[in-house]
Amino acid sequence: MSRVLIVEDEEGLVLTLSDRLQSEGFETDFARDGDEGIKKASEGSYDLILLDVMLPKTNGYDVCREIRASGSRVPILMLTAKNETIDKVLGLKLGADDYLAKPFEMVELLARVEALLRRSEALTNGRSAAGFQFEDIDINFKNAEVTREGEPVDLSAMEFKLLQFLVENQGEVHSRDELLDAVWGYDAMPTTRTVDVHIAWLRQKLESNPKRPRHIQTVHGFGYKFVA
Ligand code: CA
Repeated sequence: MSRVLIVEDEEGLVLTLSDRLQSEGFETDFARDGDEGIKKASEGSYDLILLDVMLPKTNGYDVCREIRASGSRVPILMLTAKNETIDKVLGLKLGADDYLAKPFEMVELLARVEALLRRSEALTNGRSAAGFQFEDIDINFKNAEVTREGEPVDLSAMEFKLLQFLVENQGEVHSRDELLDAVWGYDAMPTTRTVDVHIAWLRQKLESNPKRPRHIQTVHGFGYKFVA
């Protein structure tokens, strides 16, 4: 059974969300402010977190940042107020997986929740081991840490996810659209340019010669693949 943590201060919305999620077979827990949200997220094991932006004490962005800083990669769906365009970009940058503007249809929320859970399961199932090594690079999937010659490499949440997906599906060629779907999720940042930029950053950080990458390869006319 999947466990969902609802971090939301609107009493009524918490009730509606809990009821609906429970009737769909989810187990739910909730936190009424940002601090409680951070505490629960770090203590409990949740499969997904619904995170409101406007929260008492600590706002949703900071909660998201804290959760990611702790090394957790639990899927986070942010609930933003209407027309907060800039804010949703910020949320995604801070490591949220998706966002939904209020007010939303419950059906829409459930679809997003299920898509995020499917994606996170696919990533987990594809994982053959707790870690992976190539050349002088060491990847720890559990802690979301990468080292190069023993020194930590600073990767953003999305860079790590992209690297993980490529490594777990190594040898296979993935189109930019496929990578967007698998790593960013539908409706996130709908541009394949995002993929190219992240690939370039990963090469910069991981390849001994980023201009002639040996591991994160371009397959012209198709996309990218990882080769150990
Ligand atoms: Ca609120």
